[in-house]
Amino acid sequence: MSRVILIRYGEIHLKGKNRPFFERALRMQIKNACSESPCNVSMLGGRYYVSDYDEKNEDILVQEIIKIFGIHSISIAHEVEKSVESLIEAAIKLAESQEVTKGTFKVEVKRADKTFKMRSMTLAALIGEKMLDAYSDLSVKMVNPDHMIYVEVREKCYIYMNKIDGPGGMPVGTGGKAMLLLSGGIDSPVAGWMMAKRGIQLTAIHYHSFPYTSERSKQKVVDLRDIISDYCGPIKLIVVPFTKIQEQIHEKCEEKYMTIIMRWLMMQIAEKVAIRNKCKALVTGESLGQVASQTIDSLSVSNAAVSIPVFRPLIALDKIEIMDIARRIETYETSILPFEDCCTVFLPKHPSTRPKLDDIIKEVEKLDVENLMNEAIEQVEIIR
Ligand code: ATP
Ligand code: MG
Repeated sequence: MSRVILIRYGEIHLKGKNRPFFERALRMQIKNACSESPCNVSMLGGRYYVSDYDEKNEDILVQEIIKIFGIHSISIAHEVEKSVESLIEAAIKLAESQEVTKGTFKVEVKRADKTFKMRSMTLAALIGEKMLDAYSDLSVKMVNPDHMIYVEVREKCYIYMNKIDGPGGMPVGTGGKAMLLLSGGIDSPVAGWMMAKRGIQLTAIHYHSFPYTSERSKQKVVDLRDIISDYCGPIKLIVVPFTKIQEQIHEKCEEKYMTIIMRWLMMQIAEKVAIRNKCKALVTGESLGQVASQTIDSLSVSNAAVSIPVFRPLIALDKIEIMDIARRIETYETSILPFEDCCTVFLPKHPSTRPKLDDIIKEVEKLDVENLMNEAIEQVEIIR
């Protein structure tokens, strides 16, 4: 029996003629994730198999593979010769190696290869019977057993006991490119992760207001980028100097509109930089009603600043739900480090929650927008 990691995809099954495009992309992601440990990645009958690896690398391979978007679940399986006797022998050995020699169990057989003579139910019953003979403390239970033994009869035969859930979604890159407005907070890294899960390849943009915000606050954003890159693939980070823009808004515009005007310029700069980087949409971590700049009126204004689509995957999640995801993807501990974000600098005492587009346009006209934006874009720092 040789060990294989059996990988199932989810939504890709719903694809029609373009399914091979998604399958190739997923295979590429799996190959990349496995590139540090010598192994073979193959695809057969709508599944992927990672085989011929050194068993001591198995945990590392599983940890890498299980993060890949597009994967529905994986199992660590044994490849078995295609015969009833071999399957029975394999089931008995597997139970012993997993210390499944007491309690309740059920055998489930899937026979995709219809040329295999014995029917699924008959094979399951026979394997079950032989296991009962081998281990007298085991008993069969059809509903909620302690242990499951899965047998698959396909091009080859596989036997396994566990299924580990993957993240689902689509392989990164199959959904096009978008630009993530990445702050050092809890929300935007989660928003980026969620869009990457739908197949988006991310580029990130961050606004930095040195010396109001420190080098450490910039490093925090780099760290967050690195954490989500583990799931989302390499993310180019573009850091835009924002100090001069903020100072001019502070000096010339009405205080209650400070945040929304800042947001307006962030969106416009992001759109310009997005187009240069072949990104077709923006992604933000906004959630409806979370703060003054995230009311329907405020979001309508910031939408009006740009003409490319703005994706806000957190729009209907509450903070607790967002924090749960942040913990799961391990950005939370970094996000809560206490370094200022440029949005918290010059925070108005009474921010407007119902800004009107015409008023904001008039406010923005008080600024030397073209020059400010061009200057900021010329001075970006790129962190790969
Ligand atoms: P987060 O937790 O992501 O910082 P937040 O709840 O603090 O979000 P805001 O500060 O209002 O909300 O920011 C809303 C969104 O604007 C962020 O999710 C992010 O997409 C973007 N944003 C805010 N500050 C920055 C920044 N300095 N650089 C880039 N994008 C930013
Ligand atoms: Mg923030």
